[in-house]
Amino acid sequence: MTKQQDVIVIGGGIVGLATALQLIEKNPGLKVKVLEKENKVAVHQTGNNSGVIHSGIYYKPGSLKATNCIRGYNLLIEFCQKHSIPFERCGKIIVATSAEELQPLENIYRRGLSNGLTGLIRLKKEELKEHEPHVAGIAGIFVPQTGIVDYRLVAEKYAELLQAAGVEVRTNCKVTGITKRGNVQTVLSTNGEFDAKLVITCAGLYSDKLAEMAGGKTNSRIIPFRGEYYKLTPEKEYLVKNLIYPVPDPNFPFLGVHFTRMAKGGVEAGPNAVLAFRREGYKKSDIHMGELAETLAWPGFRKVAFKYWKTGIGEMYRSLSKAAFTKALQKLIPEIQQTDLAPGGAGVRAQACDRTGGLVDDFMFSEAEGSIHVINAPSPAATSSLAIGETVAGMGLKRLGL
Ligand SMILES: Cc1cc2nc3c(=O)[nH]c(=O)nc-3n(C[C@H](O)[C@H](O)[C@H](O)COP(=O)(O)OP(=O)(O)OC[C@H]3O[C@@H](n4cnc5c(N)ncnc54)[C@H](O)[C@@H]3O)c2cc1C
Repeated sequence: MTKQQDVIVIGGGIVGLATALQLIEKNPGLKVKVLEKENKVAVHQTGNNSGVIHSGIYYKPGSLKATNCIRGYNLLIEFCQKHSIPFERCGKIIVATSAEELQPLENIYRRGLSNGLTGLIRLKKEELKEHEPHVAGIAGIFVPQTGIVDYRLVAEKYAELLQAAGVEVRTNCKVTGITKRGNVQTVLSTNGEFDAKLVITCAGLYSDKLAEMAGGKTNSRIIPFRGEYYKLTPEKEYLVKNLIYPVPDPNFPFLGVHFTRMAKGGVEAGPNAVLAFRREGYKKSDIHMGELAETLAWPGFRKVAFKYWKTGIGEMYRSLSKAAFTKALQKLIPEIQQTDLAPGGAGVRAQACDRTGGLVDDFMFSEAEGSIHVINAPSPAATSSLAIGETVAGMGLKRLGL
């Protein structure tokens, strides 16, 4: 048993690390430890995402996503500049490809204005090509704020700063239980037992499990949605200058397959969104019977499946058929052919689903005796990490009376 910590943060993804960083920035004397089950940080969502610095254009004004994305955007850019992490503010276009998408496109534009974005430009059909010469569409929006970064580098820098400040980021340390004795929380793990006054869980794909382990009540379950990517073959990368997005389905929490020039090089196409048969299931063949059974038994999931069955079948079809995936991409760039696409990686999104069948749209935090929980932190949580960290650290310091 090591000496008692003020706070133990569980999860070495970008949200847990940012939370720990904000805790010690606001209170440098605080004793903080981060526990991560993998052998390094940023292995899951943080290390397998699209690498987009989101502007905040999509989110409902006043929501936690809107406020944390815009604050997080500014904090992230400042952080990257300060620590020489490569990023680019290259802008993106959102493209309507049919008349039915024109009103939703206009709604996004207005949302952007309500969220305080400046410099948005409505694009006519012919103006789209000035930004992306190979794109096809009937109208669009140029969003100048959008950028690209490698979030693995950002998270690694958070970890490096924490360690430099004396905070241990203990890897290979899977938390298996949390018990309470008076005001002391004891965290049991595969790599030691640790006492703390406060536990903060930021466990991504296991956020519901860790919250429950700490005695918190969650009225939601994490449903894992795998996002699969292709990458453009190097000789076809010229087809995409920066980022090209479709108009998203307003009823679905994902943005639709898009083209992203990556900060680390190359152009990715995707991700789709298919149900993963295990929480950390990066391959189609990854199945965990217990986790799958739990997903299928969750009443909210059955309602989601009923509500989105058509979208879900389309996504599964695109997952199994490269021709169908290519067809979806051809809506944005008609020249793209199957042979231009090489297999890319995959990421799994942790999406909370409530009991009644709602995919929880906003970020969600909860509190229990001796613990605070990040329950839902899907995209744009990487962009927003320092703002989420600030919010959660603020809750933590209040709980400690600091
Ligand atoms: C395909 C995809 C594309 C995305 N694109 C973008 C994007 O372009 N821009 C953007 O802003 N966001 C994007 N996101 C969202 C973003 O990546 C996530 O919101 C963010 O990374 C969440 O960070 P996290 O720390 O909560 O989760 P994670 O990075 O998943 O970290 C959680 C950590 O908790 C650890 N953990 C779990 N259980 C335990 C345990 N029992 N003991 C110890 N440790 C444990 C895990 O090992 C993991 O390291 C995308 C996500 C995906 C999947």
